Amino acid sequence: MPQDFVYQNSTQIIMFRKTSIIITLGPASDSPERLGQLIDAGVNVFRLNMSHAQHDWCRQVVHHIREIAKEKAKHVAVLFDLQGPSIRTGDLDKPFELKIGDRFEIRKRSEEPTIPFSTTVNYEGMMDDVKAGATLVVDNGTMLMKIEEKNENNLICEVLTAGKVGNRRHINLPGTRLNLPALTAKDHEDLAVAVECKSDFIAGSFVRDAAHVEELRSEMVKLGGKSQIISKVEDQEAIKNIDDIIVASDVIMIARGDLGIEVHVEELPIIQRQIVKRCHVLGRRVIVATHMLESMITNPTPTRAEVTDVSTAVYEEADAIMLSGETSVGEHPIRCVETLDRIAKRMERAGSIGNGKLAVLESDKQKVVHAALVLADAIPDSELVVFTRRGDMAVKAAMLRPEANIHAFASTPEVCRQLALARGIRANTIPFYDDPLHTIDHAVEYMKDNGMVEPGKALIVVSDTLRKQKMVDSILLIYA
Ligand code: PEP
Repeated sequence: MPQDFVYQNSTQIIMFRKTSIIITLGPASDSPERLGQLIDAGVNVFRLNMSHAQHDWCRQVVHHIREIAKEKAKHVAVLFDLQGPSIRTGDLDKPFELKIGDRFEIRKRSEEPTIPFSTTVNYEGMMDDVKAGATLVVDNGTMLMKIEEKNENNLICEVLTAGKVGNRRHINLPGTRLNLPALTAKDHEDLAVAVECKSDFIAGSFVRDAAHVEELRSEMVKLGGKSQIISKVEDQEAIKNIDDIIVASDVIMIARGDLGIEVHVEELPIIQRQIVKRCHVLGRRVIVATHMLESMITNPTPTRAEVTDVSTAVYEEADAIMLSGETSVGEHPIRCVETLDRIAKRMERAGSIGNGKLAVLESDKQKVVHAALVLADAIPDSELVVFTRRGDMAVKAAMLRPEANIHAFASTPEVCRQLALARGIRANTIPFYDDPLHTIDHAVEYMKDNGMVEPGKALIVVSDTLRKQKMVDSILLIYA
């Protein structure tokens, strides 16, 4: 059974969680006081949802996060989540109350209504992409319609379930291949702000193939950004191209909100498990997102089913679990984080699926990391110490899902923040000296001084060592 991730200092024992927690910010959580409480409760990454966020708000909230995290000496990351190309209905004078069997028109913006229940759509190509007979899911699954008639400038739909259609409602077309662009004009504007704020992660929504990921990355680089790229998997097209998307990305997000509409809902747990597994095989980090504690938007405790859902993601060895409305607009943001923290810690002690064995070890470096992990797992109660310039070596160690805790040392806070989204890593900043042994000594003293290891503890160190004036990969067994 894996040991708890425990740091001990003179006054308290702190049990660390391996699974990272990402939360979405909004009016319920964006004040400096709340940000501090959320960091104390265990948040590793703050998500700014660009479907709702204003640019000045982003600048201000990122400034507060960085200041507060610095005061608390914590490496907390920021994630800008771009809205992406979503299809939305137009504005109405007043919402329509629709009954089963009613006819509902969706028309191009240039067209006049031809029937009483009529609205425009923001995507002109929709009439070309769809087929008559296709199902239309309106407002995140609250209403279903069937396309009865497809014309050049409009679609006539039959209402299958009664409901209300208001302004700018989201439309999903499960199974339809849409020719939407990877990035909209709004995404380009939001990306510029994400780069300006030096966001640690940028997420692309409705990523459908590797070319979309590459486009987002190259647009970000053109603006001078250094963020890592998260691809949100949220439709059937992305599932078809999943391996290519995983390889092109730094991190994958299983965005179950939209994905649960785009696929048959009973497929969702299977798809989640498969994507997590493919990420392990291909060496990329993975987030399980959405509806994890949905009932806690209003209730102070989770449903039993939610507890089981969170624990499944932890059992499957996701790198991170994510909250959305629970913390952006919910009534109990702190309790939600505390709840995830408790479930994750308990599940981590109970053992997990063992996906680390699936990782394909391609480079010699990966094989060195693997050998170090085997050694760490063979020495009871030992800890791993990884020195990492770009974070890559530490992520590779985390991908193998060792039972031992991973202490990563990097020379910059930027790398440490990007490691906030990786399973089982505690990242620390120290200067790197020309002589790697000097850096190792410094790190061991740092861990002892900060109550991270007790004197005498076995440490398996993965580092560069100087041999004949050249750096070579090495594994050292030392005692703190
Ligand atoms: C989702 O659909 O699950 C998701 C995370 O994306 P968004 O919140 O942007 O709809």
